[in-house]
Amino acid sequence: MKALVFHGPGSKAWEDVADPRIQRPTDAIVRIDTTTICGTDLHILKGDVPTVQEGRVLGHEGVGTITAVGAGVQRLAVGDRVIVSCITACGMCEYCRRGLFSHCLADEGAPGLGWVLGHLIDGTQAEQVRIPFADSSLHKVPEGVEDAAAVMLSDILPTGFEIGVRNGRVSPGDVVAVVGAGPVGLAAVMTSVLAGPSRVIAVDLDAHRLDQALRFGASDVVDAGDPDWYDQVMARTDGLGVDVAIEAVGVPDTFTMCTRIVRPGGHVANVGVHGRPVELALQELWIKDVTLTTGLVSTSTTPMLLRLVEQHKLAAAAFATHTFALDHIDEAYEVFSHAAETKALKVLLTR
Ligand SMILES: [Zn+2]
Ligand SMILES: [Zn+2]
Repeated sequence: MKALVFHGPGSKAWEDVADPRIQRPTDAIVRIDTTTICGTDLHILKGDVPTVQEGRVLGHEGVGTITAVGAGVQRLAVGDRVIVSCITACGMCEYCRRGLFSHCLADEGAPGLGWVLGHLIDGTQAEQVRIPFADSSLHKVPEGVEDAAAVMLSDILPTGFEIGVRNGRVSPGDVVAVVGAGPVGLAAVMTSVLAGPSRVIAVDLDAHRLDQALRFGASDVVDAGDPDWYDQVMARTDGLGVDVAIEAVGVPDTFTMCTRIVRPGGHVANVGVHGRPVELALQELWIKDVTLTTGLVSTSTTPMLLRLVEQHKLAAAAFATHTFALDHIDEAYEVFSHAAETKALKVLLTR
């Protein structure tokens, strides 16, 4: 089969590799019908994720059709259309039983880390993929849910909801700020609306992304490049700050912005993937009763989000801005990595 293979920082190729095969009775083989590229994939290509070895097939998001199952797979069968969760979960270890699939202790990849696809084992930017623990790592797609919507449940919608909205404890009436309006920030905007906030303020440097945020459910937008961005945010609160600040960029500046705009008693929910230390003004924050949360998505809310997509309560397909054939994946990476010019949010690759 063909797959996108990582050849070290800055280097990848769409090339022939061996077909995946069932290795354990709990495995399934999925033929990829739709996959997509994540900001994390760009980090890997930059060399920011040294645990990814040369020769690894990239990708941790996808929708496909099961072509083979191991003897131990009980809930799924050949022909089922499934969402590949970005987190692989054995379903039985101590963390899985707590719903923290992100820290699954099974020995696929590295014990204690549920993100293995396209990281520690071969991933979904391929014609086929082997999925370990298929019963607890795949979700059947209900009829009527298109691939373009379903693939957003692999990663971005559960990430925005679990790590942004749920960890941030967004509650009815809250004023929420989402700093960073890329795909994951927009997923936090879209799913924060489920919790009934009175206002959702999107903050970003890119005017196009701010326009998008309004389409995804933000009530207000603030251009982070404006010298008075802080006052603009404060003016949309009672003057004390936002109840919940969701960081969805992953750089020190945006993290600091969140800790500045949060009100006493409020929550800062970090979603961004950080590559450098940040400054934490604990000397100011301790007396404000601020709660700071971090996290890697567990995808424990995927079934719930899938029901909302099925019932048209979440317009998940709206994230898809570009579609390419799977073998045009190089072109898709070009478009996705130049999002400011191409206005790309999620770039789909289809069979
Ligand atoms: Zn992803
Ligand atoms: Zn587990």
